[in-house]
Amino acid sequence: MRAVKLRKQDLPAFLKCVQSFGELWGPVREKDRQVLKKTDDVNQIDLTTIRTSLPFKKLLFPPRFSMFHFSGNKYTTSLEHLPNRIIFGLHPCDIHALLIMDDFFTRSFDDPYYTERRKKTAIIGFSCIPDEKCFCHATKTDTVEEGFDLFLTDLDDFFLIWVGSSLGDDMTRECPKIIDEGILPEDLKKYVEWRKYRNSQFKMDIDLTSMPEIFDLSYDSVIWEEEGEKCLSCGACTIVCPTCPCYHVYDKIEMGKIEGERMRQWDSCLFKEYSMVAEGHNFRESRAERLKLRFTHKLQAFVGEYGKPACVGCGRCIETCPVDIDIATIVRRLRGEEVKV
Ligand code: SF4
Ligand code: SF4
Repeated sequence: MRAVKLRKQDLPAFLKCVQSFGELWGPVREKDRQVLKKTDDVNQIDLTTIRTSLPFKKLLFPPRFSMFHFSGNKYTTSLEHLPNRIIFGLHPCDIHALLIMDDFFTRSFDDPYYTERRKKTAIIGFSCIPDEKCFCHATKTDTVEEGFDLFLTDLDDFFLIWVGSSLGDDMTRECPKIIDEGILPEDLKKYVEWRKYRNSQFKMDIDLTSMPEIFDLSYDSVIWEEEGEKCLSCGACTIVCPTCPCYHVYDKIEMGKIEGERMRQWDSCLFKEYSMVAEGHNFRESRAERLKLRFTHKLQAFVGEYGKPACVGCGRCIETCPVDIDIATIVRRLRGEEVKV
């Protein structure tokens, strides 16, 4: 993989330069949180961001959007005029989540509402130092080798940039005056030292080995009732999760008219209506059953289908849950470890 360098003070000029490839989106501080936002002012981008409150999925798979407008037996889709975008600042965990989403929306058939947006989206990843809610080393998503066009590692006085695609290559060649092609042995040494330092900074440790078997053995565990008792069914954990893709589809149509919009909207397996079928029967009536579904899907079912968990250890659900339901605590409890509940 080609690597180049960029001086620290040249980052704003570089981001301005790559704006010729599309709208620039990046983490911007708003009061006490960081949000992924379109910005023309590159100085607004907050490089200290660990996690944005909503992840990249809001751009590739918007919370609510019109799939097509229909009138009689004709329809027009909403896929024309999608903008080219650059998402700056995705950390390795989010890039792994992006790869999971890519797989999910293309494996059985191409979902054009996702893939058309994805084709027009460039990814510039950015290195991070984990905080107390990060556990991407446990999910093995703490480093990335694919899924980005460029990836910047902050090595104090300069950024080491990995070039991950031909589009990324074009971006670096667009800004020749500030991109330095000369990687020196001491630069690589600095990179290796930085990797060691970052590895030493993980504060949370969770053992995710044998989770499929542990879930099998814990199907009737009292833990689900106890944790479900606390859950508010607010769905916030699924809304913020970069690997939760569930949605529902409905028609927006006025009474007496034969035209309208087919809408797609994020859904959550924690909502009571999610598992409700005709005549009002609900397969997961209780909050405990719905909570169990979420964790079983993430750490057992997805492993069977896709060969890896559908959790990338980003810590968003831990940060967001209003009643402190914590994936790490649940895993530890299921493993029989002593935890303070
Ligand atoms: S389950 Fe929680 S920690 Fe895992 S990817 Fe989703 S939001 Fe992040
Ligand atoms: S955020 Fe917490 S309370 Fe809300 S649905 Fe998720 S687990 Fe339940």
